[in-house]
Amino acid sequence: MRREHHARLPRMCFAPARKPPGSLPSLLAAVLIAGVLVALAAVPAEAGGDAFRKETTRAVRAHEKARAQVDRLRAGDARTTEVRSAERRRKAIRAGLWDALWSVARDAGDPVAVDPSGRAGRCPAARTRSRTPEDRDGDWTAPTRRYRLSAGYAARGSRWAHRHTGQDFAVPTGTPVYAVGPGTVRATTCGDGFGNQVIVRHPDGYFTQYAHLSRIDVRKGGRVAAGQRLGLSGATGNVTGPHLHFEVRITPYMGSAVSPLPWLRRKSVDIGG
Ligand SMILES: [Zn+2]
Repeated sequence: MRREHHARLPRMCFAPARKPPGSLPSLLAAVLIAGVLVALAAVPAEAGGDAFRKETTRAVRAHEKARAQVDRLRAGDARTTEVRSAERRRKAIRAGLWDALWSVARDAGDPVAVDPSGRAGRCPAARTRSRTPEDRDGDWTAPTRRYRLSAGYAARGSRWAHRHTGQDFAVPTGTPVYAVGPGTVRATTCGDGFGNQVIVRHPDGYFTQYAHLSRIDVRKGGRVAAGQRLGLSGATGNVTGPHLHFEVRITPYMGSAVSPLPWLRRKSVDIGG
């Protein structure tokens, strides 16, 4: 069986991460963040993907903890300064992760880093065929309809070099794929293991990825509303059959995925599973 190489982080060197901005009120938090960032920057070049992956996984977890802390403080009516400093912690972790992953993605020739509009490659010209739904402020939604949930997040299997980084929705080729929430199209690319893919940036800073599409209906830079069609599902890239691969990421780059179903549940979208 073929391996979906998209789940694998390449063995590449990367640039040192940015230092977290400003001074932090909590020394402990500063030490923790510094630990993650230093570890991300310290994995030596060619040390192998395993050490790098371990550190990026740690950074993703630290980010999610920091985000949960921001949410808790907001819900508990904490002082503005407290919320701000928690938000700074979250952003510092993300900035370090972003730099490290961007560098790896660029060196590996990941189209999201080197050709996010899909123009340089041989991507099918993305004609804007998708209309914004009437209800622009629509609720968050599932990325497709009439699906069967197949491979889940963090699943192990012969198809992935490591763990599965997204949630698969088994749907026939040609099924409409929708933006789960409002945002801006960050990338429309083709040619790697993900085949034709769309990456959307949402207002909360997270990114969603829709891969293996047969057709792309949006362009980089375009705004999309929740439920707006991004394209049609397919079987492009490294796949064993037609399905939608859906990911939620902290950055546009692979290696920063979080568990997508709990993330959607926080937006009041329950897709089962
Ligand atoms: Zn998948």
